[in-house]
Amino acid sequence: MIPYGRQHISNGDIQAVTKVLGSDFLTQGPIVPQFERSIASYCGADYAVATNSATSALHLSCLALDLGPGDTLWTSPNSFVASANCAVYCGAEVNFVDIDSSTYNLCARKLEEKLEASEKTGDLPKVIVVVHFAGQSCEMKKIAELGKKYRFRIIEDASHAIGAEYAHSKVGSCRYSDVTVFSFHPVKIITTAEGGLAATNDPELASRMSRMRSHGITRDQSEMVNKSDGPWYYEQIELGLNYRMTDLHAALGLSQLARLDEFVTKRHQIADLYDSEFGNSKIKLPVRSNSGRSALHLYPIQVSCDRKKVFCKLRDAGIGVNVHYIPIHLQPFYQKRGFTRGDFPVAENYYDNAISLPMFSSLESNDQEFVIKTLKSLIEDSVN
Ligand SMILES: *Cc1c(COP(=O)(O)O)cnc(C)c1O
Repeated sequence: MIPYGRQHISNGDIQAVTKVLGSDFLTQGPIVPQFERSIASYCGADYAVATNSATSALHLSCLALDLGPGDTLWTSPNSFVASANCAVYCGAEVNFVDIDSSTYNLCARKLEEKLEASEKTGDLPKVIVVVHFAGQSCEMKKIAELGKKYRFRIIEDASHAIGAEYAHSKVGSCRYSDVTVFSFHPVKIITTAEGGLAATNDPELASRMSRMRSHGITRDQSEMVNKSDGPWYYEQIELGLNYRMTDLHAALGLSQLARLDEFVTKRHQIADLYDSEFGNSKIKLPVRSNSGRSALHLYPIQVSCDRKKVFCKLRDAGIGVNVHYIPIHLQPFYQKRGFTRGDFPVAENYYDNAISLPMFSSLESNDQEFVIKTLKSLIEDSVN
């Protein structure tokens, strides 16, 4: 089966991890901070807090922004459930803003309309999680302007978008947000197996997130309530979690980071071939916006014929296509919280026709040709 996404592990990656196995620290050694500094410097952010997943990093971001009961977080319905769940972990409410029909990202114009309406009813959000769907940045300038006007904080869920650019900066620079979160799951652009990271330019947020990542414990005298008893002394000053990344995972991430730009370039070559091969077909192709380079995590197409049939035939042919995403508000968990079909029609309509084609840096050209040939014949059959 040709998957829709997978990791690309080199001998160098394997050596980097093996070296840590023979070292003094499997976790909480020198590699995690080194990985954090490298990601921060790659993105142009001041601080980076590595975690055991993007889900954890989203939770830490919400905690650091003091999201809690009585607050509301808005996000895109066209995302993985983690973009919304982070609010529920904090006891906050979730709501959604429908997507733009060309980028499939949270629509800045609809956001503005919803903010205007919510101002009147007094239920403005405290935090907005924007999701850079498929690796293409949202309209951050506009969203940041709205953030100033309506006083909400911004988390970028950039799980798809490490290596992407927006307005001449790397995604993760946090020029237009409080925190940017990355995922290093194997299907994403670079991997640490499981892993994530929160980047920020705010020293308070960074220190709060790193403390909450490790039980709410501090070893910094300036944060302590009492005087230190001695060199062993630490204090738990709030309730945190264990969301730490290990040195083993960070070593893989560090080695992968050196290959990030090469991975993104390869993804663009794959997308270019899909674009040119399907350019004249009935398939609606994903657009690459001119606001900055996409990391191209996904290649989501829209088919006008029977999506399920095309999807199943591709799977039968050994092509591991997928669908991104079942709108979050249609999940039973969120339906129980009052959402229903019809609430966010653009995301629903997009979902009804979506198929994600194989897109990963180690996709072999003969495999991609097979995908193209198979899909072309299915589309032609359905027309006839
Ligand atoms: C993968 C993904 C996540 C979760 O990442 P994990 O590292 O698996 O926790 C969150 N948001 C989006 C948009 C994702 O694609």
